[in-house]
Amino acid sequence: RFSTLRPAQTDGPFALDAAFRADTDPRKVNLIIGAYRDDREEPWHLPSVTEAKRRLKVEHSHHEYLPLQGSPKFVEASRRVLFGPAIVQQQQPFLASIQTVSGTGANSLVAVFLEQEHLRPTNIWLPNPTWINHADIWKVNAPNVKMQWYPYYDDAKRELDFGAMVETLQRDCQEHDAILLHACAHNPTGRDPSQRQWRELAQLCLKKRLFVIFDSAYQGFASGDLDSDAWAIRHFVSYPSIELAVCQSFSKNLGLYGERVGALHMMVSRSNPNGANLAAAVQDNLIDLQRACVSMAPLFGSRIASEVLGNSDLEEMWKADLSTMSGRIKAMRSALHDELLQLRTPGSWDHITEQTGMFSYTGLSKEQVEELQLKHHIYLLPTGRASMCGVTSANVSYIARAIHEVVSG
Ligand code: PMP
Repeated sequence: RFSTLRPAQTDGPFALDAAFRADTDPRKVNLIIGAYRDDREEPWHLPSVTEAKRRLKVEHSHHEYLPLQGSPKFVEASRRVLFGPAIVQQQQPFLASIQTVSGTGANSLVAVFLEQEHLRPTNIWLPNPTWINHADIWKVNAPNVKMQWYPYYDDAKRELDFGAMVETLQRDCQEHDAILLHACAHNPTGRDPSQRQWRELAQLCLKKRLFVIFDSAYQGFASGDLDSDAWAIRHFVSYPSIELAVCQSFSKNLGLYGERVGALHMMVSRSNPNGANLAAAVQDNLIDLQRACVSMAPLFGSRIASEVLGNSDLEEMWKADLSTMSGRIKAMRSALHDELLQLRTPGSWDHITEQTGMFSYTGLSKEQVEELQLKHHIYLLPTGRASMCGVTSANVSYIARAIHEVVSG
Protein backbone atom coordinates (compact mmCIF):
# COMPACT_ATOMS: atom_id res chain seq x y z
CA ARG A 1 0.00 0.00 0.00
CA PHE A 2 1.15 3.54 -0.89
CA SER A 3 4.47 2.17 -2.17
CA THR A 4 3.93 3.64 -5.64
CA LEU A 5 3.31 7.10 -4.25
CA ARG A 6 5.85 9.79 -5.19
CA PRO A 7 6.28 12.99 -3.17
CA ALA A 8 3.89 15.63 -4.49
CA GLN A 9 5.26 18.95 -5.70
CA THR A 10 4.20 21.79 -3.45
CA ASP A 11 2.37 24.50 -5.39
CA GLY A 12 5.14 26.74 -6.83
CA PRO A 13 4.17 30.09 -5.30
CA PHE A 14 3.67 28.60 -1.84
CA ALA A 15 7.04 26.79 -1.94
CA LEU A 16 8.75 29.99 -3.05
CA ASP A 17 7.01 31.90 -0.28
CA ALA A 18 8.57 29.50 2.24
CA ALA A 19 12.01 30.30 0.76
CA PHE A 20 11.24 34.02 1.09
CA ARG A 21 10.31 33.61 4.75
CA ALA A 22 13.57 31.80 5.42
CA ASP A 23 15.64 34.58 3.79
CA THR A 24 17.14 36.79 6.50
CA ASP A 25 18.38 39.60 4.24
CA PRO A 26 16.72 42.89 5.34
CA ARG A 27 16.39 44.05 1.70
CA LYS A 28 14.23 41.07 0.70
CA VAL A 29 11.11 41.79 -1.36
CA ASN A 30 8.13 39.47 -1.86
CA LEU A 31 6.56 39.72 -5.32
CA ILE A 32 5.20 36.17 -5.20
CA ILE A 33 1.79 35.71 -3.64
CA GLY A 34 -1.33 37.34 -4.96
CA ALA A 35 -2.56 39.03 -1.80
CA TYR A 36 -2.91 42.79 -1.41
CA ARG A 37 -0.45 44.68 0.80
CA ASP A 38 -0.56 48.34 1.74
CA ASP A 39 2.34 50.72 1.20
CA ARG A 40 3.97 49.44 4.41
CA GLU A 41 3.92 45.88 3.06
CA GLU A 42 1.20 44.94 5.57
CA PRO A 43 -2.10 43.12 4.91
CA TRP A 44 -4.75 45.83 4.65
CA HIS A 45 -7.89 45.85 6.78
CA LEU A 46 -10.56 47.18 4.40
CA PRO A 47 -12.48 49.86 6.36
CA SER A 48 -15.77 48.48 4.96
CA VAL A 49 -14.93 45.02 6.34
CA THR A 50 -13.84 46.40 9.73
CA GLU A 51 -17.12 48.30 9.99
CA ALA A 52 -19.12 45.22 8.95
CA LYS A 53 -17.43 43.16 11.70
CA ARG A 54 -18.20 45.87 14.24
CA ARG A 55 -21.87 45.93 13.27
CA LEU A 56 -22.11 42.14 13.29
CA LYS A 57 -20.89 42.05 16.91
CA VAL A 58 -19.00 38.90 15.98
CA GLU A 59 -18.21 38.01 19.59
CA HIS A 60 -21.89 37.18 20.11
CA SER A 61 -22.58 35.39 16.82
CA HIS A 62 -23.36 31.67 16.62
CA HIS A 63 -21.47 29.01 14.69
CA GLU A 64 -24.26 26.84 13.35
CA TYR A 65 -24.20 25.15 9.93
CA LEU A 66 -25.20 27.15 6.89
CA PRO A 67 -27.92 25.69 4.64
CA LEU A 68 -26.45 23.44 1.93
CA GLN A 69 -26.90 26.10 -0.76
CA GLY A 70 -25.11 28.61 1.47
CA SER A 71 -26.38 31.77 3.12
CA PRO A 72 -29.44 32.94 1.14
CA LYS A 73 -28.54 36.56 1.88
CA PHE A 74 -25.01 36.05 0.60
CA VAL A 75 -26.11 34.16 -2.53
CA GLU A 76 -28.58 36.90 -3.39
CA ALA A 77 -26.00 39.66 -2.87
CA SER A 78 -23.27 37.85 -4.80
CA ARG A 79 -25.59 37.44 -7.80
CA ARG A 80 -26.48 41.12 -7.76
CA VAL A 81 -22.83 42.26 -7.61
CA LEU A 82 -21.82 39.93 -10.40
CA PHE A 83 -24.66 40.22 -12.91
CA GLY A 84 -26.20 43.56 -11.90
CA PRO A 85 -29.81 43.90 -10.65
CA ALA A 86 -31.43 43.98 -14.14
CA ILE A 87 -30.03 40.62 -15.29
CA VAL A 88 -30.82 39.00 -11.93
CA GLN A 89 -34.40 40.19 -12.14
CA GLN A 90 -34.89 39.01 -15.72
CA GLN A 91 -32.91 35.76 -15.65
CA GLN A 92 -33.50 34.51 -12.10
CA PRO A 93 -35.48 31.42 -13.25
CA PHE A 94 -32.55 30.29 -15.39
CA LEU A 95 -29.94 30.77 -12.71
CA ALA A 96 -28.58 28.22 -10.22
CA SER A 97 -26.24 29.52 -7.50
CA ILE A 98 -24.44 27.93 -4.60
CA GLN A 99 -22.03 29.36 -2.04
CA THR A 100 -18.64 27.66 -2.41
CA VAL A 101 -15.27 27.38 -0.70
CA SER A 102 -14.14 30.55 -2.46
CA GLY A 103 -13.10 30.69 -6.13
CA THR A 104 -11.09 27.47 -5.93
CA GLY A 105 -14.15 25.63 -4.60
CA ALA A 106 -16.30 27.06 -7.41
CA ASN A 107 -13.76 26.00 -10.06
CA SER A 108 -13.56 22.50 -8.57
CA LEU A 109 -17.33 22.15 -8.27
CA VAL A 110 -17.99 23.08 -11.89
CA ALA A 111 -15.34 20.55 -12.96
CA VAL A 112 -16.94 17.80 -10.84
CA PHE A 113 -20.35 18.74 -12.24
CA LEU A 114 -19.24 18.56 -15.88
CA GLU A 115 -17.38 15.30 -15.28
CA GLN A 116 -20.71 13.49 -14.83
CA GLU A 117 -21.15 11.03 -17.65
CA HIS A 118 -24.36 12.43 -19.15
CA LEU A 119 -22.91 15.96 -19.37
CA ARG A 120 -19.28 15.36 -20.09
CA PRO A 121 -17.69 17.70 -22.66
CA THR A 122 -14.93 16.12 -24.74
CA ASN A 123 -12.51 18.93 -23.93
CA ILE A 124 -11.97 21.75 -21.47
CA TRP A 125 -10.06 24.59 -23.13
CA LEU A 126 -7.75 26.54 -20.82
CA PRO A 127 -5.71 29.63 -21.72
CA ASN A 128 -1.97 29.19 -22.01
CA PRO A 129 -0.76 30.51 -19.62
CA THR A 130 -3.30 30.51 -16.82
CA TRP A 131 -3.59 30.47 -13.02
CA ILE A 132 -1.28 27.71 -11.85
CA ASN A 133 -4.11 25.76 -10.16
CA HIS A 134 -6.47 25.42 -13.13
CA ALA A 135 -4.71 22.40 -14.63
CA ASP A 136 -4.63 20.55 -11.30
CA ILE A 137 -8.26 21.37 -10.60
CA TRP A 138 -9.34 19.81 -13.89
CA LYS A 139 -6.94 16.88 -13.63
CA VAL A 140 -8.16 15.92 -10.16
CA ASN A 141 -11.87 16.69 -10.50
CA ALA A 142 -12.61 15.79 -14.11
CA PRO A 143 -10.12 13.12 -15.21
CA ASN A 144 -12.35 12.09 -18.13
CA VAL A 145 -12.49 15.55 -19.67
CA LYS A 146 -9.47 16.16 -21.88
CA MET A 147 -7.48 19.26 -21.04
CA GLN A 148 -6.62 21.41 -24.06
CA TRP A 149 -4.77 24.72 -24.24
CA TYR A 150 -5.55 27.71 -26.40
CA PRO A 151 -2.79 30.26 -27.06
CA TYR A 152 -3.37 33.45 -25.12
CA TYR A 153 -0.22 35.51 -24.96
CA ASP A 154 2.42 36.71 -27.38
CA ASP A 155 5.66 36.66 -25.38
CA ALA A 156 7.60 38.73 -27.89
CA LYS A 157 5.03 41.52 -28.14
CA ARG A 158 3.92 41.11 -24.52
CA GLU A 159 0.34 41.34 -25.64
CA LEU A 160 -2.76 39.20 -25.87
CA ASP A 161 -2.40 36.94 -28.92
CA PHE A 162 -6.02 37.27 -29.97
CA GLY A 163 -5.43 36.09 -33.54
CA ALA A 164 -3.87 32.79 -32.46
CA MET A 165 -6.49 32.31 -29.76
CA VAL A 166 -9.43 32.65 -32.13
CA GLU A 167 -7.78 30.64 -34.88
CA THR A 168 -7.15 27.69 -32.54
CA LEU A 169 -10.63 27.78 -31.01
CA GLN A 170 -12.29 28.05 -34.44
CA ARG A 171 -10.27 25.17 -35.80
CA ASP A 172 -10.03 22.74 -32.90
CA CYS A 173 -13.00 23.15 -30.55
CA GLN A 174 -15.70 20.53 -30.82
CA GLU A 175 -19.35 21.37 -30.28
CA HIS A 176 -20.27 21.30 -26.59
CA ASP A 177 -16.68 21.58 -25.40
CA ALA A 178 -16.14 23.75 -22.31
CA ILE A 179 -13.94 26.84 -22.34
CA LEU A 180 -12.48 28.72 -19.40
CA LEU A 181 -12.15 32.50 -19.69
CA HIS A 182 -10.81 34.93 -17.07
CA ALA A 183 -13.52 37.57 -16.59
CA CYS A 184 -10.94 40.34 -16.00
CA ALA A 185 -7.33 40.86 -14.87
CA HIS A 186 -6.06 37.66 -16.46
CA ASN A 187 -3.71 35.83 -14.11
CA PRO A 188 -0.77 35.80 -14.83
CA THR A 189 -0.51 38.08 -17.88
CA GLY A 190 -2.63 41.09 -16.85
CA ARG A 191 -3.91 41.27 -20.45
CA ASP A 192 -7.65 41.08 -21.18
CA PRO A 193 -9.58 41.11 -24.45
CA SER A 194 -11.05 44.47 -25.49
CA GLN A 195 -14.84 44.84 -25.66
CA ARG A 196 -14.67 44.29 -29.42
CA GLN A 197 -12.69 41.10 -28.87
CA TRP A 198 -15.09 39.88 -26.17
CA ARG A 199 -17.94 40.37 -28.67
CA GLU A 200 -16.08 38.23 -31.19
CA LEU A 201 -15.44 35.54 -28.58
CA ALA A 202 -19.11 35.46 -27.59
CA GLN A 203 -20.04 34.89 -31.24
CA LEU A 204 -17.51 32.09 -31.48
CA CYS A 205 -18.79 30.40 -28.31
CA LEU A 206 -22.34 30.70 -29.61
CA LYS A 207 -21.48 29.24 -32.99
CA LYS A 208 -19.54 26.33 -31.51
CA ARG A 209 -22.11 25.84 -28.75
CA LEU A 210 -19.38 25.95 -26.12
CA PHE A 211 -20.14 25.82 -22.41
CA VAL A 212 -18.45 28.95 -21.06
CA ILE A 213 -16.82 29.05 -17.63
CA PHE A 214 -15.85 32.51 -16.43
CA ASP A 215 -13.35 32.67 -13.61
CA SER A 216 -14.05 35.93 -11.80
CA ALA A 217 -11.44 36.37 -9.07
CA TYR A 218 -10.76 40.10 -9.46
CA GLN A 219 -14.07 41.94 -9.90
CA GLY A 220 -13.60 45.56 -8.87
CA PHE A 221 -9.97 44.90 -8.08
CA ALA A 222 -8.82 45.34 -11.68
CA SER A 223 -10.31 48.65 -12.76
CA GLY A 224 -11.65 49.76 -9.38
CA ASP A 225 -15.16 49.53 -10.82
CA LEU A 226 -17.37 46.48 -10.21
CA ASP A 227 -19.52 46.95 -13.32
CA SER A 228 -16.64 47.43 -15.78
CA ASP A 229 -14.93 44.30 -14.48
CA ALA A 230 -18.11 42.26 -15.02
CA TRP A 231 -18.71 43.61 -18.54
CA ALA A 232 -17.64 40.46 -20.38
CA ILE A 233 -19.86 38.17 -18.28
CA ARG A 234 -22.89 40.41 -18.70
CA HIS A 235 -22.24 40.64 -22.44
CA PHE A 236 -22.21 36.84 -22.79
CA VAL A 237 -25.46 36.64 -20.80
CA SER A 238 -27.09 38.88 -23.42
CA TYR A 239 -27.01 35.90 -25.83
CA PRO A 240 -29.93 33.77 -24.62
CA SER A 241 -28.54 30.48 -25.85
CA ILE A 242 -25.03 30.78 -24.38
CA GLU A 243 -24.94 28.57 -21.29
CA LEU A 244 -22.38 29.57 -18.74
CA ALA A 245 -20.94 29.18 -15.28
CA VAL A 246 -19.22 31.86 -13.21
CA CYS A 247 -16.72 31.02 -10.47
CA GLN A 248 -16.86 34.04 -8.20
CA SER A 249 -14.28 34.80 -5.53
CA PHE A 250 -14.35 37.47 -2.82
CA SER A 251 -10.78 36.76 -1.69
CA LYS A 252 -9.17 39.75 -3.36
CA ASN A 253 -11.94 42.32 -3.63
CA LEU A 254 -12.99 42.00 0.03
CA GLY A 255 -9.56 40.96 1.31
CA LEU A 256 -11.15 37.81 2.79
CA TYR A 257 -8.49 35.42 1.46
CA GLY A 258 -8.41 32.97 4.36
CA GLU A 259 -12.15 33.02 4.98
CA ARG A 260 -12.90 31.25 1.67
CA VAL A 261 -15.86 33.27 0.41
CA GLY A 262 -17.22 32.61 -3.07
CA ALA A 263 -20.02 31.27 -5.21
CA LEU A 264 -20.69 29.24 -8.31
CA HIS A 265 -23.44 30.50 -10.60
CA MET A 266 -24.72 28.53 -13.56
CA MET A 267 -27.03 29.95 -16.17
CA VAL A 268 -28.88 27.54 -18.43
CA SER A 269 -30.20 28.47 -21.87
CA ARG A 270 -32.76 31.29 -21.72
CA SER A 271 -34.18 30.15 -25.05
CA ASN A 272 -35.20 26.73 -23.73
CA PRO A 273 -38.87 26.73 -22.60
CA ASN A 274 -37.93 24.13 -19.99
CA GLY A 275 -35.04 26.33 -18.73
CA ALA A 276 -36.49 27.01 -15.30
CA ASN A 277 -36.82 23.30 -14.53
CA LEU A 278 -33.30 22.68 -15.78
CA ALA A 279 -31.90 25.42 -13.56
CA ALA A 280 -33.64 23.86 -10.56
CA ALA A 281 -32.14 20.46 -11.44
CA VAL A 282 -28.67 22.03 -11.83
CA GLN A 283 -29.08 23.68 -8.43
CA ASP A 284 -30.01 20.38 -6.74
CA ASN A 285 -27.13 18.55 -8.37
CA LEU A 286 -24.62 21.20 -7.35
CA ILE A 287 -25.86 20.92 -3.78
CA ASP A 288 -25.51 17.13 -3.84
CA LEU A 289 -22.02 17.20 -5.30
CA GLN A 290 -20.74 19.79 -2.86
CA ARG A 291 -22.45 17.93 0.01
CA ALA A 292 -20.35 14.86 -0.79
CA CYS A 293 -17.18 16.92 -0.72
CA VAL A 294 -17.38 19.61 1.99
CA SER A 295 -21.11 19.60 2.96
CA MET A 296 -21.38 23.37 2.75
CA ALA A 297 -19.26 26.50 2.49
CA PRO A 298 -17.95 28.32 5.60
CA LEU A 299 -20.11 30.75 7.51
CA PHE A 300 -17.98 33.56 8.90
CA GLY A 301 -16.67 35.24 5.76
CA SER A 302 -20.04 35.07 4.04
CA ARG A 303 -21.57 36.92 6.98
CA ILE A 304 -19.09 39.76 6.50
CA ALA A 305 -19.65 39.79 2.73
CA SER A 306 -23.44 39.85 3.17
CA GLU A 307 -23.18 42.74 5.60
CA VAL A 308 -21.01 44.80 3.23
CA LEU A 309 -22.94 43.95 0.08
CA GLY A 310 -26.34 44.22 1.74
CA ASN A 311 -26.09 47.74 3.17
CA SER A 312 -25.82 50.65 0.79
CA ASP A 313 -23.56 52.74 3.06
CA LEU A 314 -21.15 49.83 3.53
CA GLU A 315 -21.27 49.06 -0.18
CA GLU A 316 -20.21 52.65 -0.90
CA MET A 317 -17.33 52.29 1.57
CA TRP A 318 -16.36 49.07 -0.19
CA LYS A 319 -16.28 50.79 -3.58
CA ALA A 320 -13.92 53.37 -2.10
CA ASP A 321 -11.76 50.52 -0.74
CA LEU A 322 -11.62 48.98 -4.21
CA SER A 323 -10.41 52.30 -5.61
CA THR A 324 -7.78 52.51 -2.88
CA MET A 325 -6.42 49.05 -3.70
CA SER A 326 -6.52 49.29 -7.48
CA GLY A 327 -5.25 52.89 -7.29
CA ARG A 328 -2.19 51.93 -5.23
CA ILE A 329 -1.35 49.12 -7.63
CA LYS A 330 -1.67 51.44 -10.64
CA ALA A 331 0.53 54.01 -8.90
CA MET A 332 3.19 51.36 -8.25
CA ARG A 333 3.04 50.23 -11.89
CA SER A 334 3.75 53.82 -12.97
CA ALA A 335 6.49 54.29 -10.39
CA LEU A 336 8.31 51.12 -11.46
CA HIS A 337 7.90 51.97 -15.12
CA ASP A 338 9.24 55.52 -14.60
CA GLU A 339 12.24 54.34 -12.57
CA LEU A 340 13.19 51.85 -15.30
CA LEU A 341 12.89 54.54 -17.94
CA GLN A 342 15.01 56.92 -15.91
CA LEU A 343 17.69 54.26 -15.53
CA ARG A 344 17.49 53.66 -19.30
CA THR A 345 17.03 49.96 -18.70
CA PRO A 346 17.29 48.15 -22.05
CA GLY A 347 13.96 47.13 -23.59
CA SER A 348 10.44 48.51 -23.48
CA TRP A 349 8.60 48.58 -20.15
CA ASP A 350 5.25 50.00 -21.24
CA HIS A 351 3.58 46.64 -20.63
CA ILE A 352 4.00 47.21 -16.87
CA THR A 353 1.55 50.12 -16.94
CA GLU A 354 -0.65 48.65 -19.66
CA GLN A 355 -1.33 45.38 -17.83
CA THR A 356 -4.18 45.27 -15.36
CA GLY A 357 -4.89 43.58 -12.03
CA MET A 358 -2.59 42.26 -9.39
CA PHE A 359 0.24 40.95 -11.50
CA SER A 360 2.81 42.13 -13.93
CA TYR A 361 4.05 39.61 -16.45
CA THR A 362 7.43 41.30 -16.56
CA GLY A 363 8.98 39.41 -19.46
CA LEU A 364 12.06 38.68 -17.34
CA SER A 365 13.64 35.31 -18.17
CA LYS A 366 13.94 32.40 -15.75
CA GLU A 367 17.67 33.17 -15.39
CA GLN A 368 17.03 36.83 -14.68
CA VAL A 369 14.43 35.87 -12.07
CA GLU A 370 16.96 33.54 -10.45
CA GLU A 371 19.55 36.30 -10.36
CA LEU A 372 17.05 38.71 -8.81
CA GLN A 373 16.47 36.20 -6.04
CA LEU A 374 20.08 35.17 -5.45
CA LYS A 375 21.77 38.56 -5.70
CA HIS A 376 19.02 40.97 -4.70
CA HIS A 377 16.65 38.87 -2.54
CA ILE A 378 13.71 39.83 -4.75
CA TYR A 379 11.31 36.89 -5.19
CA LEU A 380 8.97 36.40 -8.14
CA LEU A 381 7.70 33.37 -10.06
CA PRO A 382 10.07 31.71 -12.57
CA THR A 383 7.65 32.73 -15.34
CA GLY A 384 8.50 36.38 -14.60
CA ARG A 385 5.13 37.04 -12.94
CA ALA A 386 5.51 39.70 -10.26
CA SER A 387 2.78 40.55 -7.77
CA MET A 388 2.52 44.33 -7.86
CA CYS A 389 1.13 44.21 -4.30
CA GLY A 390 4.68 43.74 -3.01
CA VAL A 391 5.92 46.98 -4.60
CA THR A 392 5.88 50.00 -2.26
CA SER A 393 7.08 53.61 -2.39
CA ALA A 394 9.97 52.51 -0.17
CA ASN A 395 11.23 49.57 -2.26
CA VAL A 396 10.35 50.55 -5.85
CA SER A 397 13.75 52.16 -6.56
CA TYR A 398 15.57 49.14 -5.16
CA ILE A 399 13.48 46.81 -7.35
CA ALA A 400 14.06 48.96 -10.46
CA ARG A 401 17.83 49.11 -9.89
CA ALA A 402 17.96 45.33 -9.41
CA ILE A 403 15.95 44.72 -12.60
CA HIS A 404 18.22 47.18 -14.42
CA GLU A 405 21.27 45.25 -13.27
CA VAL A 406 20.02 41.79 -14.29
CA VAL A 407 18.69 43.02 -17.63
CA SER A 408 21.85 44.99 -18.49
CA GLY A 409 23.93 41.87 -17.72
N1 PMP B 1 -8.95 32.09 -10.12
C1 PMP B 1 -7.90 32.88 -10.34
C2 PMP B 1 -7.62 33.32 -11.72
C3 PMP B 1 -7.08 33.29 -9.28
O1 PMP B 1 -6.04 34.07 -9.52
C4 PMP B 1 -7.38 32.84 -7.98
C5 PMP B 1 -6.53 33.22 -6.80
N2 PMP B 1 -5.21 33.30 -6.99
C6 PMP B 1 -8.51 32.02 -7.80
C7 PMP B 1 -9.27 31.67 -8.89
C8 PMP B 1 -8.98 31.45 -6.50
O2 PMP B 1 -8.80 32.13 -5.36
P1 PMP B 1 -9.65 31.80 -4.07
O3 PMP B 1 -9.81 30.33 -3.99
O4 PMP B 1 -8.87 32.39 -2.96
O5 PMP B 1 -10.96 32.48 -4.27
